Amino acid sequence: MARKISLALKRGASCVGCDIAVVNLSQKLFDLLEIADIVFSPTLLDVKYDDLRKMPDKSITIGLYHGAVRNSDNEEFAKIMRDKCQVLIAYGACAHMGGIPGLANVSNREKIFQTVYKETFSTDNPKCVFPQTEWVDDRGHKLTLPEFYDEVYTLDDVVDVDYYVPACPPTHEMNMEILNLIKDWVEGKRDLPPKGTVIAREKTLCDECPRNPGKGKKITVEKLKYISEVEPDPEKCFLEQGILCLGPATRAGCGAPCIEANMPCRGCMGPTSFVMDQGGSMLSAIASILGISEDEIELSEEDIEKLVSQLKDPLGCFYRFSLPKSLLRKVVQDREV
Ligand code: SF4
Ligand code: SF4
Ligand code: SF4
Repeated sequence: MARKISLALKRGASCVGCDIAVVNLSQKLFDLLEIADIVFSPTLLDVKYDDLRKMPDKSITIGLYHGAVRNSDNEEFAKIMRDKCQVLIAYGACAHMGGIPGLANVSNREKIFQTVYKETFSTDNPKCVFPQTEWVDDRGHKLTLPEFYDEVYTLDDVVDVDYYVPACPPTHEMNMEILNLIKDWVEGKRDLPPKGTVIAREKTLCDECPRNPGKGKKITVEKLKYISEVEPDPEKCFLEQGILCLGPATRAGCGAPCIEANMPCRGCMGPTSFVMDQGGSMLSAIASILGISEDEIELSEEDIEKLVSQLKDPLGCFYRFSLPKSLLRKVVQDREV
């Protein structure tokens, strides 16, 4: 009989959707439980953080950390997971590239606190009390809160990561691929991939998309439309219809559930390893489709301005899941200095 491994799931700045994605293995969850004991998961088990702290170092075979690193608590537990797990996986778009929480990197702690605890119409805070890391009440009890960081980090910004599983959240198809990989590894049928591997494909979503109009076919449209403004043709490529779809700049491997549901891709798998910046890559592709730039590689500032003026939310469109890992992160930081 194959050996049994142990598995831990820990969330950082997460919506818990990634935990649910694991539970969504549904009947296949029993296949997982045949080869792995889940030894820590605050969502699935009645466990306390101290239970994880007390486990011996490297006593857990595989750890899935999902969510970004937004505060000191997230960072502390990312480090604990690194110490306790032999293999640490950044699971889901937030741990991989910052994900949706990472969009907050256009701002900083001070501006976020001002907005949330002072300016928001639903906030009644006349004394302008903001969260503090320490506070002593009238009876001398000290209360503490994690430190809210100035920016959002990815898991590999704070600890060494062995593998990445992208997407928001990883799809059933991807989870099955990981399950089969772990099963084969436990049974000695195959080795784990090289450290640092993103467990997905090295092609773009367009390469695997059934709507792909054909390699080399030049698409041109006059204006970009949002999916909310049109009734999309369920057979035709979204970009051919002028609807923004991030397929050209996004890694394949999710099984294209959005395309199947007649929704364009929003890019949650992140870019392939051949691309440094997902948003920049998509901007270039769109500029070429709109006839703004002939060259898909180099865009002038004027090209970018022309393009961005067509979009209501360029940052959300092009960097929805990848801002903390983008070249733009640096631009935003430099502008703040
Ligand atoms: S990747 Fe998506 S589903 Fe997973 S924690 Fe982040 S926002 Fe939630
Ligand atoms: S742009 Fe979107 S719809 Fe068109 S081929 Fe690529 S993934 Fe498919
Ligand atoms: S189609 Fe795009 S948005 Fe949808 S799961 Fe795949 S990568 Fe994510």
